[in-house]
Amino acid sequence: MPLIQTLPSSVWDNMLKQTVTFSKDSSNLFFHILTKCNLSCSHCYINTKQHGANTLDIDTIKKWLTLFSKKSDLNKTNSNKIGQTNLIFLGGEPTLHPDLHLAVKEAKRLGFKSITIDTNGYLFHNILDKITPDEIDFLSFSLDGATRETNDAIRGKGSYDMVMEGIQKVVSKNFSCSMIYTVSDMNIHELELMPDVVKSLGINRFFIQVIGMRGKSSNPDGKRQVSRETWLSTIPKVAEAIAGHGIVVTYPKVFLTKDETFQCAGLVADNYFIFPNGRVYQCPICEDFSLHSYEIKNDRLIATPRINEKDLFNLTIPEGCVMNKMIQPQNLSYNKKGHPEYQIACCMLKEEISNISEREGGLNEITSDSGIQIGKPIEMVAIAVKKSAIRCKIISTGQPITFRKVRDEVEGEILTIKPSKVWRFQKTHYMTGEIISKKIDIPALKLEPLALADPWSWDPQNHYWGEPDEPVDPYFQPIINFGIRDAYEMEQIIPFQDPKDIDSDPILDASEFFNQGNQVEAFKIMEKILAVDLRCLDAHAHLGAWEFNRSKKKHEMIILKAKGHYEVGVNIGKLSLPENFNGLLPWGCIDNRPFLRCLHGYGLSLWRLGQPREAEKLFKKMLWLNPADNQGIRFLLADIDDGKTWYESTIFDD
Ligand code: SF4
Ligand code: SF4
Repeated sequence: MPLIQTLPSSVWDNMLKQTVTFSKDSSNLFFHILTKCNLSCSHCYINTKQHGANTLDIDTIKKWLTLFSKKSDLNKTNSNKIGQTNLIFLGGEPTLHPDLHLAVKEAKRLGFKSITIDTNGYLFHNILDKITPDEIDFLSFSLDGATRETNDAIRGKGSYDMVMEGIQKVVSKNFSCSMIYTVSDMNIHELELMPDVVKSLGINRFFIQVIGMRGKSSNPDGKRQVSRETWLSTIPKVAEAIAGHGIVVTYPKVFLTKDETFQCAGLVADNYFIFPNGRVYQCPICEDFSLHSYEIKNDRLIATPRINEKDLFNLTIPEGCVMNKMIQPQNLSYNKKGHPEYQIACCMLKEEISNISEREGGLNEITSDSGIQIGKPIEMVAIAVKKSAIRCKIISTGQPITFRKVRDEVEGEILTIKPSKVWRFQKTHYMTGEIISKKIDIPALKLEPLALADPWSWDPQNHYWGEPDEPVDPYFQPIINFGIRDAYEMEQIIPFQDPKDIDSDPILDASEFFNQGNQVEAFKIMEKILAVDLRCLDAHAHLGAWEFNRSKKKHEMIILKAKGHYEVGVNIGKLSLPENFNGLLPWGCIDNRPFLRCLHGYGLSLWRLGQPREAEKLFKKMLWLNPADNQGIRFLLADIDDGKTWYESTIFDD
């Protein structure tokens, strides 16, 4: 995937419409680890004569990454920049590299600020099974048409479907995902259809690019560029429409207005575009020429002799960008006196927009009335976990706030967040920042315990333990020996249920949506329920089960997330039970079932995570709570006793 002015996370934190200014405090590394590609897009800017056709081996990639990491001489000269380099892996198609996953892990180890892979969607070498969402910030997919016809005419037959399939996989595995649309006269007519295309894909970012007249697109008459009028009348409008779906949109400025000042990123920012032949450019539109500022020779970064691109950065012309005038002047226009009517911005200058409405409140307002201080950790409880945001409540003040980042958090979890930005938009407060730690600490939430209904006496002698001539299962013998105990029914909370309508059950509605494949609607219902009352144990049990059953493979993130849902449910239920509770919560009392389901799922998660002894302890307690064992706990205990893993037990069941 060629360049791609995929923007660094330093700008991803700015959520309202703004021009993203260049920064000396961070650098961006666009690393082409190969130029090979399975596609042959008609606008591809890769130029193997200039960039080489080799594939870097993993040892070389690691050495070159080190050159730009926080340990490098390059970054040591600027202490502000330590750990501030955003890395984007590019190609050709970077997933064609069999060791891309090792490169990602090395980049993570070296402490790059953010790591992105730009891909054409084919996701070769099972890359998603070899990296985790914790190791990468974004997978960015290129799509150049709202329809299969237009995209495939530019990028190749089948590529539209591969992108859609790839995004689905990436989102289902909890990676963050973005999309890049390179605008030209071949596809601008379909840009207005993109808000509808992307609204339910689950992507977090949308990048609009402008076609560059280089590589295969290089042509003297500037064909394929869109006019200034078309650009200005289309791009901001579409960006706003996409941002209206909660997606952050970035697009190049291209045309400066009279009151905007031209700046060349080559002079005021640190961007490095590395190619496999060792060339390192600081300006992407110089890449068709041997004008690179640096070269990597024998794994060392060496400045190239003049004349190079740096000499061009220093030239001042009334048209703005010098390189633009040299290679794609068709986007310029002059008045009768021969003066340019406007300036062309640096191609690295971006507009970013996250929503179309007016900002209502500012940083000072929210920080002063909420006690939030930028950089000072604050505890919040997750109330509703969406794809790219979590609705939280600040524990100390109860103030609701939306946190714009998600990994594997679950409703009811307490997050300690170091805020980097807070703002108010319409009536909602938002925050970005770093999650420092997470915990499940239900007592800290001060929830009202679910009531236990008046007890009744349960006598084991009145219970069926099997035929008289058959031995009693050893798991039950101590329960029988203990004798009479009290049995209870735990209060069940189901918000939105109409007590007068026996058929009204939002949990059932959500399950039906889920089973019909409409996961979006199913999760929406659960979010609403938990936002009203976190004590709806059946919502936690269902969310846990949906997660747990997502895969039978050893996918740790899925199991941890499932365990989190169940654990929250278990601990909310436990609030109701006195210490050393030895009563029963029989399955026969319907309202006990959500708690028993949470316990069951929690035990299975522990077992699946390789903690059979903890699972065993919990399962034994479950038999005491519900000796009728309607959930088949005794069979799980038998398998654990036989030394089976959860996976072996499940295969046996199949
Ligand atoms: S996906 Fe297309 S644009 Fe990207 S490198 Fe391959 S041919 Fe070039
Ligand atoms: S695009 Fe133009 S303004 Fe931007 S770095 Fe290159 S030469 Fe400078």
